[in-house]
Amino acid sequence: MGRPIIAIVGRPNVGKSTLFNRLAGNRIAIVDDAPGITRDRLYADAEWQNREFVITDTGGILFNESDPLTLQVKRQAELAMEEADVIVMITDATDGVTSTDEELAEMLRRTQKPVLLAVNKVDNKRLEQEAHEFYSLGLGEIYRISSIHGSGVAELLDAVQEHFSKIPEEEEIPEEAVKLAIIGRPNVGKSSILNAILGEDRSIVSSIPGTTRDSIDTVFERGEDKFALIDTAGIRRAGKIQGSIEYYTVLRAIRAIERSDVALLIIDAGDGLMDGDKRVGGYAHQAGKGCVVVVNKWDLRRAGENRLSVKNFTLELRKETPFLSYAPIVFASALRGEGISEILDTAKDVADSCALRISTGELNRIISDAVDNHPYMEKGQALKIKYATMVSVKPPTILLFVNNPDMFHFSYQRYLDNQIRKTYGYEGTPLRIIAKKVEKEKP
Ligand code: GDP
Ligand code: GDP
Repeated sequence: MGRPIIAIVGRPNVGKSTLFNRLAGNRIAIVDDAPGITRDRLYADAEWQNREFVITDTGGILFNESDPLTLQVKRQAELAMEEADVIVMITDATDGVTSTDEELAEMLRRTQKPVLLAVNKVDNKRLEQEAHEFYSLGLGEIYRISSIHGSGVAELLDAVQEHFSKIPEEEEIPEEAVKLAIIGRPNVGKSSILNAILGEDRSIVSSIPGTTRDSIDTVFERGEDKFALIDTAGIRRAGKIQGSIEYYTVLRAIRAIERSDVALLIIDAGDGLMDGDKRVGGYAHQAGKGCVVVVNKWDLRRAGENRLSVKNFTLELRKETPFLSYAPIVFASALRGEGISEILDTAKDVADSCALRISTGELNRIISDAVDNHPYMEKGQALKIKYATMVSVKPPTILLFVNNPDMFHFSYQRYLDNQIRKTYGYEGTPLRIIAKKVEKEKP
């Protein structure tokens, strides 16, 4: 199972993004902020009491701005009720209970999912007393917080975490299957790619219902290999929704990524690379999943005025998404059925590299050679790496014991990353390299 997804809902200005930023800041920086990632206020990794989860601020999702406010807030709630594991509704103590709060609460009372009510901006004793009125929303206990000062947030998170163990298990996909999430902006051809993959005379083994409404995973065999397409129904359905599609697709894509081994990031060759592509690719990278970039609709670029070479498109892609430099690129046309086999072959290879372990001896040899060839100095002090060990795979995660973790900057991390890849490739998977302070040796 992927990490639990927490959705923050509420009307504008109650402090959703302030809380979001506070929670996002709590996470241990296991992934150094890689250059080129387009951040939005929608999705962040968070951690509390050693448990990792994902927070989403549904207020940051683009709704139809011409819709009345209550409708926009209702859409948020619908989305959260469908796609999140735990919902946190925020209200504003300084405003008291508003009619929009009441409408929102009424909707949320109908879901089976856990809903917690946080009364924000409780900055003083008087507001602490007055917050009592929010019990009238009928959502049970209220959590008085101040997102700005941080008070009450720990208690809220404790309460959120109590619900994690109660999240229903999804039906299991066979362990040997490579789990694929097809992700990308609207209209890039996700559902066309899906149909091309499933259409090519594959033997479909089973359709497994997920926990989210309408969600179905499709398991199929291809020669010796087994694959599962995560949320087949969601990919098909998203293509048919008109207008402000983003509100529907974003959380759903995040959920699919969380449950996958490898994300197929679909890009529209006709459009070229867009900010939305980088953002979606950023989700896969941050989640530590394997990634294959699929440049779809390549038929549009092979001839005529819009002709482009594979080489030039690749250069552009590498320049614009440096954080995905490890991801192989496949040029495809769902329309013509081209490149579809290559997508699956590549995804299989990527899944293998996500799970590849290096022995401790080998790893230490590579790291110490790398340090010898290119030592890192700062203010007369050398960064010393005493010992390296691979603590987990999917993604491969390396722990380094060093004299001074503050000296382990992103550029050196990238250097070591490259050195490891020289021997082991690790095509398609991010590597996580974490520096920890070595314990003082006892005399
Ligand atoms: P959102 O629209 O729900 O995402 O709300 P924001 O996070 O943008 O916050 C709206 C306003 O409320 C901003 O001016 C924040 O600084 C302010 N705010 C957020 N949390 C608190 C709080 O705990 N106390 C006070 N006094 N102001 C807050
Ligand atoms: P989704 O929203 O990402 O699922 O995209 P769809 O699969 O619904 O495709 C969006 C549009 O792009 C449709 O009109 C497709 O016919 C078209 N399309 C999909 N793949 C290709 C392709 O390889 N070449 C061309 N020329 N058009 C394509």
